Amino acid sequence: MRILVTGGAGFLGSHLIDRLMQAGHEVICLDNFYTGSKRNILQWLENPNFEVIRHDVTEPIRLEVDQIYHLACPASPVHYQYNPVKTIKTNVIGTLNMLGLAKRVKARFFLASTSEVYGDPEVHPQPEEYRGNVNPIGIRACYDEGKRVAETLAYDYHRQNGVDIRVVRIFNTYGTRMLPNDGRVVSNFIVQALQGKSLTVYGDGSQTRSFCYVSDLIEGFIRLMNSDRTQPVNIGNPGEYTILQLAQTIQNMVNPDAKLIFKALPQDDPQQRQPDITRAKEWLGWEPTVPLDEGLKLTIDYFRDRLAEEGKISQK
Ligand code: NAD
Ligand code: UDP
Ligand code: UDP
Repeated sequence: MRILVTGGAGFLGSHLIDRLMQAGHEVICLDNFYTGSKRNILQWLENPNFEVIRHDVTEPIRLEVDQIYHLACPASPVHYQYNPVKTIKTNVIGTLNMLGLAKRVKARFFLASTSEVYGDPEVHPQPEEYRGNVNPIGIRACYDEGKRVAETLAYDYHRQNGVDIRVVRIFNTYGTRMLPNDGRVVSNFIVQALQGKSLTVYGDGSQTRSFCYVSDLIEGFIRLMNSDRTQPVNIGNPGEYTILQLAQTIQNMVNPDAKLIFKALPQDDPQQRQPDITRAKEWLGWEPTVPLDEGLKLTIDYFRDRLAEEGKISQK
């Protein structure tokens, strides 16, 4: 098949492209390189089955493809809040364009949605039926309301135009190829610990997240895309930790001498988050296989090599 991956030069997109290329598909990677980088897709640049297009999804584009994985959108609060209006445009106009494309060429359309559609959840863990608790005027709204509209667009194109859709709600995912300055918690703590800096815990660290290793997530993507399920499916690892526990775990694994410092909790930071993965188990036969300590070890090794290569830490 010929498969379009928007946001393909980013963290998740590039891991997805590896899987699709290894399976023998033709892949088009479309990216504006805002948070993505060529380094993530370097291994495929010379491959005749691979093409990369520098393009912004907020502009229309005509391509002929069989499937579209639509991932283009910055995922870290630091990056999506840098230019919030652009984030909304990417989620709304970008998703509209990709759905228009899917409609024209009759491609199956896969939307990378997020656990953020549940906002600061009052139901725990979060099943797909939960409608969420989102602040529409807060600093996260450009992202979480943007993704909620993206979902709405997908279901309206499905009902109105018969577009074949798949919607994944991704819970916090980490792993190799995150940017050292990505700003999300796992990469921040690892980079800080490796550089002998203090780990920055926001608030008192009692808020929780559930962390999924990237290879597990991508397996879930492929299974969902190739299933016949059009309803949203949570993909994430139900192992739930407080941010303080995560900081202490990384401190112990990387540098027990590193200190923890406490900083202000950002506005609207969700207090708890854990996926209910009943649908993923029953519909896709999927569940995560990589425990946190194993995934963290792989990620720490990656950042140690990368920072040493870039001269940002001395020891290798
Ligand atoms: P990322 O920032 O590494 O990747 C996003 C990619 O999209 C980058 O390559 C970036 O350059 C590209 N991009 C951004 N705006 C674009 C635009 N207007 N036009 C074209 N390309 C654009 O983030 P990620 O973690 O790989 O996230 C990928 C997708 O998964 C995003 O849609 C994100 O919302 C979703 N998601 C990720 C997580 C997670 O924990 N990683 C959780 C929930 C949802
Ligand atoms: N679009 C696109 N590529 C295509 C087909 C459509 O980028 O191959 C864009 C199109 O420019 C429009 C959006 O997708 O902005 C929605 O398309 P649709 O055909 O649904 O709506 P219309 O063009 O009729 O407004
Ligand atoms: N966080 C933190 N220190 C950091 C970065 C993030 O304590 O250096 C916290 C953040 O406040 C949130 C959690 O870690 O409670 C997860 O943040 P991240 O940005 O990774 O993801 P999201 O909040 O979007 O789930």
